[in-house]
Amino acid sequence: MTTANANPLNQTIHTIGILGGGQLGMMLAEAALKLGYRCIFLEDAADCPAALYGTVYNSKQLDEFIHQADVFTLEFENTPVKTVKKLEKLNQKDDGKHGMYPSAFALEVAQDRLTEKSMFNELNIATVPFLAVSSQADLQKASEELGLPLVLKTSRGGYDGKGQFVVRTPQDIAVAWRELGGAVTGRGDLTSTPAPLIAEGFINFSREVSIIAARGKDGTVRAYDLVENHHHNGILAKTQAPAVGTSHLNKMAQNAISTLMNHLNYVGVLALELFVCKDENGNDTILANEIAPRVHNSGHWSIEGAVTSQFENHIRAVVGLPLGDTDNVHPSIMINVLGEYPNLADVLAIDGSHYHTYHKEERENRKIAHITLMPNNVTNLELSVQELVKILPNKVGLG
Ligand code: AMP
Repeated sequence: MTTANANPLNQTIHTIGILGGGQLGMMLAEAALKLGYRCIFLEDAADCPAALYGTVYNSKQLDEFIHQADVFTLEFENTPVKTVKKLEKLNQKDDGKHGMYPSAFALEVAQDRLTEKSMFNELNIATVPFLAVSSQADLQKASEELGLPLVLKTSRGGYDGKGQFVVRTPQDIAVAWRELGGAVTGRGDLTSTPAPLIAEGFINFSREVSIIAARGKDGTVRAYDLVENHHHNGILAKTQAPAVGTSHLNKMAQNAISTLMNHLNYVGVLALELFVCKDENGNDTILANEIAPRVHNSGHWSIEGAVTSQFENHIRAVVGLPLGDTDNVHPSIMINVLGEYPNLADVLAIDGSHYHTYHKEERENRKIAHITLMPNNVTNLELSVQELVKILPNKVGLG
């Protein structure tokens, strides 16, 4: 079988090289196939979810991976910036390669919370107050300036709530430093690159929301509406799309993500996680927490729930095609399956359920599948959620 003429709009790009081969890579490949592109993956785990969709190259086979792909993107945020820089340089040579999206610059910013939050503030995008912490004395000072409680986080390498400590009392300061100080000094396994910690004021947010947008090579930005996210121990459990009661904040969030994308000269899909809280006048407002320079778990609903999914829009952006409509077609709730698979027949018996397995082995609290619920009758949405929660072996965060 050949796909050589399947994509007449963009004949020079046939193969997309993706850094990482997890479920995000898998769903990118599904979207790419539909448009006539094939994907290959750079990933050391040969049995990764994306392996069913294309050849997987390990890091020792980087040159072969580069040779086989026409354009590059990533699905794994902790991809080494060095690799991304190498791929970016290819674009500057006349070797038939079509670039690396997003850029090393965008990835570098997203990999460091201090750089990221400083950039938000430079662009007039509000955040919680924060300070860099390089010693226990700094943490003491931060606790006086920001007040308690505060959230101490590693600035690099943390994900899904790892590398964080809520400092509630002055006695917690020494404990928090003992737990996380290794990220500054290079001791322990918290980070491969020693870097200051970040102390953030603790925010009593009313909701956690995120906005996802795609930016094309011509600078066009298309944003989805805000969605509401429920986390448990830092792991996403559930996303409601669109978020209910936050439509008045869509414009503000869209302005923030457009500003960020234009500043980064971003190409592809970017996610921005936000807290909803009150401003000094008692009005609802949003504070930026972090960006993910890739397709995002809080956008999985868009496969069924939006005119164009985040995955398809990312592929469109990377190969230089026009972006698709980001409107919601129907309200939905996406639920992550953690650790243990449910009975498939039970899932599919629920009104409006769409099942996506990641073909992964079961492991405690590992994201192994997601289910998007989109019953025809919107009033049945909560009912469908309750039915699903009943049959999920792991109900963590869905209480
Ligand atoms: P993060 O890794 O920054 O996404 O943080 C993980 C989770 O911790 C978030 O989803 C929030 O629920 C919570 N969190 C993070 N930062 C703060 C903060 N400054 N104040 C209160 N809660 C926070």
